[in-house]
Amino acid sequence: MPYVNEVFEYLKRTSPSQTEFYQAAQEVLESLRPLMIKYPKYRQHKIIERIVEPERQILFRVNWLDDNGVIQVNKGFRIEFNSALGPYKGGLRFHPSVNAGVIKFLGFEQIFKNSLTGLQIGGGKGGSDFNPKGKSDNEIMRFCQAFMSELFRHIGANTDVPAGDIGVGGREIGYMFGMYKKLANKYEGVLTGKSLKWGGSLVRTEATGYGAVYFAKYMLEDRGETLEGKRCVVSGSGNVSIYTIEKLYQLGAIPVTCSDSNGMIYDEAGIDLELLKDLKEVKRVRLSEYVKYVPTAKYTPIEGYPEGTNGVYAIPCFAAFPSATQNELNLADAKNLLANGCVCISEGANMPSTPDAVDLFVESKICYGPGKAANAGGVATSQLEMAQNASMVNWTFEEVDAKLAQIMKNIYVSASTTAAEFGEPTNLVLGANIAGFRKVADAMIEQGLV
Ligand code: NAP
Repeated sequence: MPYVNEVFEYLKRTSPSQTEFYQAAQEVLESLRPLMIKYPKYRQHKIIERIVEPERQILFRVNWLDDNGVIQVNKGFRIEFNSALGPYKGGLRFHPSVNAGVIKFLGFEQIFKNSLTGLQIGGGKGGSDFNPKGKSDNEIMRFCQAFMSELFRHIGANTDVPAGDIGVGGREIGYMFGMYKKLANKYEGVLTGKSLKWGGSLVRTEATGYGAVYFAKYMLEDRGETLEGKRCVVSGSGNVSIYTIEKLYQLGAIPVTCSDSNGMIYDEAGIDLELLKDLKEVKRVRLSEYVKYVPTAKYTPIEGYPEGTNGVYAIPCFAAFPSATQNELNLADAKNLLANGCVCISEGANMPSTPDAVDLFVESKICYGPGKAANAGGVATSQLEMAQNASMVNWTFEEVDAKLAQIMKNIYVSASTTAAEFGEPTNLVLGANIAGFRKVADAMIEQGLV
């Protein structure tokens, strides 16, 4: 359909060098072709042209003092992409690879992900090219305060509600919340992922990982399969990975790998979850330390991975849970997985598979849960945190976990029934993109040209 191609060419011309954003936009726009043909109203209202443009993008300077008293300068970003369904919602990422194109891809994905949850949340994202690795606790605090000293004027409990992402966990949310409260003179639910002691929700920390495993469970159930007793591979060793591993154990599966940007652990007996939590959440050390405590496990540095591949995906498994970062799983990895009998991929990370790997998964008709559907449990539980903050009630762990499981089931059903409606029942990329888009697009039409 030339119309979709024209919009894509326009994007490339007007947003130069934003490669991750083109990748995310191209996948969504390709999926929308059958919808555009069936329902001309979306074209008449120029929804595609409007939805690819953020409502607002904020770029700002963050200057702060390191422990040696030296001035450091970083870039800060917040993209308020689409508010048709509710306040902008999406995490903050602190990582040296952050740039305008990365934030834009994440914000774009977030619109459809948030729509799929069925909750009233719009799409946003933000972050900084600040590298938290090796920084002292005081440096992290000063950076978070400097970052919030600009961001606070753009956000609010009913306007824009950031959360965590790579490099931003409970500690950083605490420092940013403290600064927001001081500057805005308001104690409100402006950030999610808060501590349980002052406004957080049970299960928010666990939600993205738990949700990705629930999503795999529902995909498999539809084919008469379960995760019980099955070997699984997980990449990353951060928030999403740790709680993916926890939920896999709860469902009787055996997660045998985890990784970081330096290498991977393969523990045939199953990853020692308590040790992993201690190393990453308490001691905050590199993953290579794992083998000091479990000498039977194997650590492979990335230089030791077979050339052009991610070592995690060379390990034979029934199901894989990419949970580190974008484009960590390429075509060679996808071929390795399929050749070794993997039948289920559930993406905890955002856009972890390259486009050719995604195409192979879709063609092979295995259970493939794309990130915007499979990892939506985090943002969904953030919205549950907002609901508890607004109503001043607290739900139990079991109540929130049950709501999370139900939301993941609804997302699966919505993506799979939409995929079937458009003639490709196993293609959850198509189903998730169309289902997520349609709700936002209808809201935009009903709300007029604003
Ligand atoms: P995190 O706690 O900071 O952990 C990130 C993990 O990924 C770390 O083990 C990190 O290793 C690894 N990693 C990061 N960049 C990498 C790279 N370039 N190559 C190899 N490994 C890399 O972050 P997270 O919250 O778990 O987020 C992980 C993914 O899930 C991201 O794609 C994020 O957007 C997505 N996600 C998160 C949430 C959430 O609620 N947190 C929700 C939805 C989606 P190092 O320590 O070596 O950097």
